[in-house]
Amino acid sequence: MLKALDTHAQLDFPQFDSDRAQLIDSLSQAGVGVINIATDVESLDRIDELTRKNPLIWGTVGLHPTEVDSQTLINLPDFLNRCKNIVENNSKIVAVGEVGLDYHHDSSTETAKIQQAALRQFLTFAQELKLPVVFHCRSAYGDLITLLGEYVELNGVIHCFGGTVSQAEALLKMGYHISFAGNITYKSSDELREVAGSVPLERLLLETDCPFLAPQSRRGTRNDPTGIFEIAETLAAVHNVEADEIVAKTLANGQKLFQINE
Ligand SMILES: [Zn+2]
Repeated sequence: MLKALDTHAQLDFPQFDSDRAQLIDSLSQAGVGVINIATDVESLDRIDELTRKNPLIWGTVGLHPTEVDSQTLINLPDFLNRCKNIVENNSKIVAVGEVGLDYHHDSSTETAKIQQAALRQFLTFAQELKLPVVFHCRSAYGDLITLLGEYVELNGVIHCFGGTVSQAEALLKMGYHISFAGNITYKSSDELREVAGSVPLERLLLETDCPFLAPQSRRGTRNDPTGIFEIAETLAAVHNVEADEIVAKTLANGQKLFQINE
């Protein structure tokens, strides 16, 4: 039975090669469900296989914005056909993502243009297939919010949120969910906790972004989906509720958004 949901994990990454099977086994015994997020071209097949083998793992199709360049953009229609084929043959693929905008390492106009052109194709694809979208956004919240204003039918989540209270408010107004990763537990993250306090419980999701962003108590080590419980404690303190309530509420939110009937 499902008791908690990590909505953003990369268990297909090589960091899990040595103990993936044992880890997944212990997660399913604990009732921790996982949405494994697609990041690059190669991850599609790995996720297709992972979700078929493991009852409590769901997946996505997509391409991280930093994987998008002029050549990827040319090949995108073919890539989307591949994604469509996977979605139509595997009912455990529940979203498009992660897709979005990331200007952190390259804020040139050319890169922004290419990433936005790719994102538009992904959003049209998500609308056609009636799937929610998992967004990655870094140093690009203004552009993301403007662009999403044109796609009113979409829903989804902004993962590892790093924007301001007013940017969160704009996204909530458009109906999106917001999720915070392990960095919300760090001592220096007062601002982020303030943003988290402004997000209503019915729009929150839990995520680890593992193997990255291990929470404070194990910062610097490999993260895994059990990290959601420490994040839940931080969110519980911010919202002045019990951690169990955060875990249960975010599970229900995730099941509804991703149509997981488990
Ligand atoms: Zn991301």
